[in-house]
Amino acid sequence: MSEPIVDWIDGQPHSRLFGDIYFSRDGGLQESRYVFLQGNDLPARWRDQRPGDTFVIAETGFGTGLNFLCAWQAWNQSAAAGRLHFVSFEQHPLSRAQIRQAHAPWGELASLSSTLCSQYEAPHEGWHRFNFQGGAVALTLVIGDARTCLPRLSGNAHAWFLDGFAPARNPELWHPDLLKEVALHAHPGATFASYTSAGAVRRALQSAGFTVEKRRGYGRKREMTVGRLDTVTPSQPAIDRDALIIGAGVAGSATARALATRGWRVTVVDGGPHAAAGASGLPQATMHLRLPKRFLASHHLALHGYQHSLRLWEALSATGTRGWHATGTVQLAHASRRSLDAEGLERIGLPAGLATPLTQEEASDIAGLRVPSGGVHFPQGGWLEGPRICNALLDHPLIETRLGIGIGQLSATGEPAEWRLTCSDGSVQVRRTVILANAASAHALLPDLRLPLHKVRGQASLIAATPASRALRVVLCGEGVITPVAHGMHLVGATYRHTWLDEHPTDAEHEENRRMLASLCPAAYEALDLGNRSWQAAFVASRTTTPDRTPVAGPCPAPSCTGLYLNVAHGSRGFSTAPLLGEMIASQLAREPSPLPVELEAAVAPGRFRA
Ligand code: SAM
Repeated sequence: MSEPIVDWIDGQPHSRLFGDIYFSRDGGLQESRYVFLQGNDLPARWRDQRPGDTFVIAETGFGTGLNFLCAWQAWNQSAAAGRLHFVSFEQHPLSRAQIRQAHAPWGELASLSSTLCSQYEAPHEGWHRFNFQGGAVALTLVIGDARTCLPRLSGNAHAWFLDGFAPARNPELWHPDLLKEVALHAHPGATFASYTSAGAVRRALQSAGFTVEKRRGYGRKREMTVGRLDTVTPSQPAIDRDALIIGAGVAGSATARALATRGWRVTVVDGGPHAAAGASGLPQATMHLRLPKRFLASHHLALHGYQHSLRLWEALSATGTRGWHATGTVQLAHASRRSLDAEGLERIGLPAGLATPLTQEEASDIAGLRVPSGGVHFPQGGWLEGPRICNALLDHPLIETRLGIGIGQLSATGEPAEWRLTCSDGSVQVRRTVILANAASAHALLPDLRLPLHKVRGQASLIAATPASRALRVVLCGEGVITPVAHGMHLVGATYRHTWLDEHPTDAEHEENRRMLASLCPAAYEALDLGNRSWQAAFVASRTTTPDRTPVAGPCPAPSCTGLYLNVAHGSRGFSTAPLLGEMIASQLAREPSPLPVELEAAVAPGRFRA
């Protein structure tokens, strides 16, 4: 997606595509405050917010993000309780440089603008969830045509900012069908505001169900429009912000963190002696995208999960967590089943900036060791220490982690359902909301659901670094992987076995890893002298997969399972997909807009296996 051409007239952005200005020449920030904040009676309405509440603003036309910054600044100044969640749709995203330039006139926004720009990077088609200020402010930025994207939003707003270009120049963003969707995605009592007073727009909003009113416009504009949705729906039961999570791997830890960020109290129980006692305990887990043959909608889950996780690791690192190592990852063509040249990458249709084709020379320079072929560079990729990351996610005042507790039985009682979990230490945990993040063991707790979860055993082999092997600077991967040195060791692996033996390492799998490395990178093999030295250690764990190789996340399908959620079956990609799906579950439970469009929520839904 190429960035739209913007002309800078008197320092103000002007769209060549639509022949219109992004905001008023009479003062964009003042206009934004007058039209969109005051027009929606903000910040006054934020006074009613209670801790744990989320106020949702949705917008048509993100443009420069000025309205978002304006709302964010007012939110901070109002010291409102709870969270602000801003959802915005944009078909022609500006580049980071254009956004920076557009914000430049407002010194008072400089710090928020740079926080936004630190995460706003090469936005490509799809759904992007950004969390700022430790999750107190969230932005869901949907890149695509609002006409096709808004109907796929799951969640409603309390206030709408209608901010397309002038209706005569940008009629798509004011189409009656789209405005109907605006009403369908508005809570009862929600308001909207727009700078335009075009009669057709007012009539369309009226027929969508809003009570519409004209007000004095901003600057040279005589009139603008505001309105309210006066529908009445039965009130929903209050949210009981208290959850039990079974499993302290990355799925459980990330889901717990996403809920705690929303003011939930969370208890995480796990039978292991420490967090990340299963597959998430991998000492060096790698982050890169598995490249598909062609980039289809279903790959958006992998892509958005990857990007979401990278933002999460960066946020943890910024607050002092160690464990994320953004070394970059190089996928070598000779050891992959994909053609990884520029043409191959173009065919896949991956967004620019995520993966760059490399010649053999370039790949060797980046890797620090001679590699046998070119490949693809994932500059944002790298590796992480699973246990450290999980512990950091669990380190939150609202999360209590209880380890070494054997999980007995899970049963439901009462109406509304309460879940009782009996544990091996004799304790009983009772909650309305339970999230199973315990991989294939979820099946044993819920046999009636017949979830098709399969275990795939994996063994990674570890070997002490040598002076020569320390030259490796990036994660190298193909069919297998070798990581740069960490704590004096390299990790090489991992195998796939469809029958689970036990957690003891086998010589056969060590040998498989040895052969894999000899073919992936002979220079690394020689540097480690693997022909003569043996492995020092192994890491064995099982990955959980499904027949469609897609995770299982969201509410359990059976009516008898109200309040029960799953976040399992991430295969060997847990660090890339589990945090985004944890964020999805937390959004569903907190009744706020999802970070995924409805079709991706359906693709991961536990109910998809039912005939
Ligand atoms: N709210 C913005 C700000 O704070 O800078 C200004 C928005 S500008 C007036 C209108 C925006 O709507 C443009 O960025 C334009 O690319 C976008 N747009 C136009 N048609 C669209 C469509 N069909 N779907 C999504 N966005 C669209």
